[in-house]
Amino acid sequence: MADTVRSLAATITGNDAPGLLTRLMAAIAEIDAEILDLEQTVVRGQLSIGMLLGVPPAGHDLLQDRLAGACARLGLTLALAEGIGDNPPRLNRSVVTILGRPLLSSHVAVTTRVIAEHDGNIDRSRRLSRTPLTSLEFWVSGADPAVLRPALARAAATSGFDVSISPAGLARQGRRLIVMDVDSTLIRDEVIELLAAHAGCELAVREVTERAMRGELDFAESLRERVQLLAGLPVSVFDDVRAAVRFTPGARTLVATLRDLGLTIGLVSGGFIEVVAPLAAELGITRVHANALEVADGRLTGRVAGEIVDRAAKATKLREWAGEEQLPMSRTIAIGDGANDLDMLAAAGLGIAFNAKPTVRASADTALNLPYLDAVLFLLGLSREEVEDAAAARDKLDLSAR
Ligand SMILES: [Mg+2]
Repeated sequence: MADTVRSLAATITGNDAPGLLTRLMAAIAEIDAEILDLEQTVVRGQLSIGMLLGVPPAGHDLLQDRLAGACARLGLTLALAEGIGDNPPRLNRSVVTILGRPLLSSHVAVTTRVIAEHDGNIDRSRRLSRTPLTSLEFWVSGADPAVLRPALARAAATSGFDVSISPAGLARQGRRLIVMDVDSTLIRDEVIELLAAHAGCELAVREVTERAMRGELDFAESLRERVQLLAGLPVSVFDDVRAAVRFTPGARTLVATLRDLGLTIGLVSGGFIEVVAPLAAELGITRVHANALEVADGRLTGRVAGEIVDRAAKATKLREWAGEEQLPMSRTIAIGDGANDLDMLAAAGLGIAFNAKPTVRASADTALNLPYLDAVLFLLGLSREEVEDAAAARDKLDLSAR
């Protein structure tokens, strides 16, 4: 339709009931108005329909009469606005996701204010989840995502909720690569601390770890220093540590859902392949890169075998896997919590600081500060309902395979 044709924007609200839209459309069907747009939402039984109808001048009055009559019969409220043509073009589109537990009106107020200050318009919003946290998605146009991102991140950090912004478009869908850190990201623990507990040098190791994660120590040096403290441990310690490792809440759901979506998942860890590989196998993850501990005569020598997986190596591995998957970096996602994740978080299309140290939180695209790894799925635009449906489908498949 040429955008010189008159159009009618109808907003219809009221109590929802079965068949309302059918009866509304039946009332205007014979006029053959062109449907330019139609959006409908129901919030706790309250219906809201937004309709944009293109009408030839001859049918204009009849269309208004029919809509008014139908709404009166159905007990709905009708608001009409006359105009010309379609919605204006939506440029610079992005998706802003906010998460909180609880998510408060003040959080939404801050978000919408910052969007407005950057000339953004909210074209659409929807709730993605209520558990384990509340998340909302806003489809924004008119604001430059690169400028909006830091402004929203600052506002969210001050107000105590989480925010993520990504350009709308194909990169949000289809094949992607997601690379995760392991210690304090995929799992709640730091594996080296579990190993150290067996060696009786827990405190010494933890002190070095914390200094390294705060960025005060070179990671490679600190790793060598800590591994030295483990010298003499029998290799059977790996079985004990594997059994002691606890996945982060939502980790299994995240990985299983990403696999259902066909995404490629990789683990990169400054920890140890002896523990990371079995965890990866348990979750069905095939791309794994981590340090290896040197063993002689069934005992740890206190040395790292081969090249150390450090901050640079993690980012290199992300790029390498993206290349192997023939994916541009815009289609990569990295998740991590420590200083040695900074490079890969910066290199990825979307870098997510997960319950991260302050330096990491400050420099990542997105910071998740609630301890649920499956919240990453909401940042990808999935709803809790979709995640639960996928889980139910997996259960069904498991049962039928037995
Ligand atoms: Mg970590």
